[in-house]
Amino acid sequence: MALHQNLIAGEWVGSEAVANINPSNANEVVGHYASGNAADMEAAIAAAKAAFPEWSRSGILHRHTILKKTSDEIQARKDELGVLLAREEGKTLPEAIGETIRAAQIFDFFAGEALRLAGETVPSVRPGIGVEITRDPLGVIGIITPWNFPIAIPAWKIAPALCYGNTVVFKPAELVPGCAWAIVDILHRAGLPKGVLNLVMGKGSVVGQVMLDSPHLSGLTFTGSTGTGKRVALASIEHNRKFQLEMGGKNPFVVLDDAELTVAVEAAANSGFFSTGQRCTASSRIIVTEGIHDKFVAALTEKLKTLVVDDALRAGTHIGPVVDARQLKTDTDYIEIGKQEGAKLAFGGGMIERENPGFFLQPTLFTEATNDMRISREEIFGPVASVIRVKNYEEALATANDTNFGLSSGIATTSLKYATHFKRNAEAGMVMVNLPTAGVDFHVPFGGRKASSFGSREQGKYANEFFTTVKTAYTLA
Ligand code: NDP
Repeated sequence: MALHQNLIAGEWVGSEAVANINPSNANEVVGHYASGNAADMEAAIAAAKAAFPEWSRSGILHRHTILKKTSDEIQARKDELGVLLAREEGKTLPEAIGETIRAAQIFDFFAGEALRLAGETVPSVRPGIGVEITRDPLGVIGIITPWNFPIAIPAWKIAPALCYGNTVVFKPAELVPGCAWAIVDILHRAGLPKGVLNLVMGKGSVVGQVMLDSPHLSGLTFTGSTGTGKRVALASIEHNRKFQLEMGGKNPFVVLDDAELTVAVEAAANSGFFSTGQRCTASSRIIVTEGIHDKFVAALTEKLKTLVVDDALRAGTHIGPVVDARQLKTDTDYIEIGKQEGAKLAFGGGMIERENPGFFLQPTLFTEATNDMRISREEIFGPVASVIRVKNYEEALATANDTNFGLSSGIATTSLKYATHFKRNAEAGMVMVNLPTAGVDFHVPFGGRKASSFGSREQGKYANEFFTTVKTAYTLA
């Protein structure tokens, strides 16, 4: 099997290979990918630094054309890339193709943004002086991504970084090098000058750590766990660099007595269990008022019975496997913790045997949970959700906000009064009414509050807040 190498200073390099394993079939190798070392990362950072002056002054049409070509190729290859994504990460093929299309849309959006770069000209308070406010690129941007959105998250960091004239060193999660390699290959062939985008696959503790400790990065954008995010923050403060963190969630989904039952059940099932619950926007706390509680639990349980857990590529699969054995152990450990804490296991909880040896776990629903249990406070990142019973809207809102996290928050209600109040008072970066907590548009800001995020928002035009720095220039007329 061919080795997919790292891209450093425009050359494909690296020999040490790591096998990329299919979580739907642990006997199947998706491909072999290079695992870089500290010297590779240092060379990549040096290459990005050397390429910055010319790239930052390159014309906007040049950047537009490369981003547009990249979008077009991803779109044209959406089925093939979707299969690769489903094989390496385990989300179902329709979800994987959807994520691939989203990556194409993001490159297309930032191809457009390259042509829309603008500043402001304002009068000075001092007569005879003109003031210009412009946005400059930062310099070398380090990009560190997690395994759960192997193509969309790299896209939503790489596209704006390049659009605004930065150069990039990209380190994807070790579990999902396939999609990362594919988009870097596409961008490289689309005509990026050497050194503008560098890919260093390898262990976070090795190549990622070199990135954190480098004095040559002007910005570092990270998506992953809260623990690694804190290390990124501390190292970035040490090196006076701008940083942006997107981390975990413990997202609430509130169901009120007046909710449309089908809407509530569909949104809760999607929020909690689709993509195997491995979304930072997944809802694992379903907060239900007592008037609808029993009816809702019965309907959600019936829905869960219909969900097929199987190979990500098999037609008709609703939920693919858990990403690997380590995450599976985390999920099953939390299921045990939930039982010990006194929550009632209403559905699932067990492993599923399929034709091939994959990491298949039943969607798991606890009821009679309380908000102080560990299963309600700690991110599980698997197909495990719990129902918390509350008296009324006021208690539901207070419970929803009683968490260290603040990424996405949802409500099912037919009341305009409660929907409006919830939108205003949910302590989250994103609020959904009668919609799943996941599933966000690519052209609007994405991000959260509290332990979920730090720094400016990602995606849409708001991305320029992180990937540029503002300059104010005065001229004597
Ligand atoms: P991790 O924090 O373990 O890993 C994220 C990335 O950091 C990986 O590329 C990893 O590399 C790298 N890394 C690990 N250690 C270091 C280090 N010492 N220095 C530099 N980089 C390092 O998270 P996961 O990949 O397990 O992703 C799951 C988490 O991501 C969940 O908590 C989830 O909520 C969160 N997430 C948040 C999102 C958001 O937007 N808010 C979106 C998606 C996920 P390696 O793979 O080699 O370990």
